[in-house]
Amino acid sequence: MTQLVVVGGSDAGISAALRAREVDPSVEVTVVVADAFPNYSICGLPFYLSGEVSDWHALAHRTAAEIERHGITLLLDHAAQAIDPEAHNLTVSDAAGRARTLAYDRLVIATGAEPIPPAIPGRELPSVYVLHTMEDSFHVQAHLTTRQPRHAVIVGGGYIGLEMADALTYRGLSVTLLQRGPSVLHSVDASLARLLEDELRRHGVHVITGAQVAGISQAGSRLAVTYAPGNRIETDLVVLGTGVRPVTRLAHLAGAMLGQHDAIQVTRRMETNLPDVFAAGDCVETWQRILERPAYLPLGTTAHKQGRIAGENAVGGSAAFAGSLGTQVVKVFDLAVARTGLLEREAQAVGFAAVTSEATLWDHKVYYPGARPLTMRITGDRHTGRLLGAQLVGHWQAEVAKRIDIAATALFHGMRIDELIDLDLSYTPPVSSPWDPVQMAAQAWVAANSPSFAIPTTGPE
Ligand SMILES: Cc1cc2nc3c(=O)[nH]c(=O)nc-3n(C[C@H](O)[C@H](O)[C@H](O)COP(=O)(O)OP(=O)(O)OC[C@H]3O[C@@H](n4cnc5c(N)ncnc54)[C@H](O)[C@@H]3O)c2cc1C
Repeated sequence: MTQLVVVGGSDAGISAALRAREVDPSVEVTVVVADAFPNYSICGLPFYLSGEVSDWHALAHRTAAEIERHGITLLLDHAAQAIDPEAHNLTVSDAAGRARTLAYDRLVIATGAEPIPPAIPGRELPSVYVLHTMEDSFHVQAHLTTRQPRHAVIVGGGYIGLEMADALTYRGLSVTLLQRGPSVLHSVDASLARLLEDELRRHGVHVITGAQVAGISQAGSRLAVTYAPGNRIETDLVVLGTGVRPVTRLAHLAGAMLGQHDAIQVTRRMETNLPDVFAAGDCVETWQRILERPAYLPLGTTAHKQGRIAGENAVGGSAAFAGSLGTQVVKVFDLAVARTGLLEREAQAVGFAAVTSEATLWDHKVYYPGARPLTMRITGDRHTGRLLGAQLVGHWQAEVAKRIDIAATALFHGMRIDELIDLDLSYTPPVSSPWDPVQMAAQAWVAANSPSFAIPTTGPE
């Protein structure tokens, strides 16, 4: 009987375990998890901390009992310490430090990512937090409930920083967001980031861009955050949202090769260079579908897909990861911001003749109450008309995610921007227009660029 051992019990690890059992119900699967929270939606942590999700248990995609009903053995509070790839053994230790060895036929490494704290003094002080695990969220929650803070500083204007600015404001705190770069959320262009900054300020968040944090120190019972050029702010707690890096020590020590951002190198079948060892999720490089090369794109959506493929292939399958476009969406107060594919500068950097057009459109017919503006940026190649990327900001109930997903689907299939105009999309006045806003944005791009690209002819010569 095949023994499959999975290291990591989050999106990628549990997806791998479930798929393996689905494909081969005879396989014995053990999932080794460093903490006691298998299959929790860490994407939901900001909503638990805001209070919108009152019970953290609700964040479980599945309970431990549900996972075990699939015939999967969970080894909770056990950390994998070493892999012996020749002997096909994994050494694990429990919370008391007691070690044991698990034999495997196939191994899936799904050790995820961890926050990168900024290299500044004071980052280890009490009341300075990161947010990646359930435990991290319990620390923040304990501070919020027992210390009654009035003010928070968030360092980093990426999507976790933005979600936490929203969450802590919702919770009644006054929030200052310090962002090193010239605008928040550098994964979208500055014109859309400005709409987000306006939204943050409209809800009382003090957004400071160009703020390089220099250090954090104790100031009586409070903290003092200093940031260049020469500023100091006192606060009750600090949340660091300054990016993540892959957790690869276990794999690397066993001889696994690392690639982009020091993530584990994998094939599109999610194989590492070690015999019978697969890897998936935030700890691995991701095949970027447009660039046709590996990148580092840690996202829950991707982790689920890669885990499923690793699990299937670990029991003899031959599935391949189709690739990521980096499609993502985040809600910030009343707005949602989404992107898929490449920004213009990213596309130009790899040799595309990328040009972008921006259009502001109504989400549905204006005669029906509640119409809201959407701002969409479309990037395409001016020589071929190929869609390369799209970004969208609008009210979170204005179908922002659905609309970016239309662009993501078109990108996945390598469509030209003019072909978006031909898509047969749904319409009724309360939700759209005869031309969906995505199609109107495509028309704007084509109007600005069509003379410059030749539409390839299809069919018999
Ligand atoms: C606050 C927040 C919000 C997010 N929001 C979104 C979102 O809206 N959309 C989206 O697509 N993505 C989002 N993400 C990203 C998403 O959560 C991750 O991409 C996803 O969780 C990655 O899953 P993973 O299984 O690869 O790794 P992780 O979730 O990092 O899990 C790693 C697992 O490995 C275990 N582990 C690590 N080392 C060992 C070891 N040595 N031994 C045993 N176990 C070990 C850990 O305990 C854990 O179970 C968010 C992330 C955060 C932190």
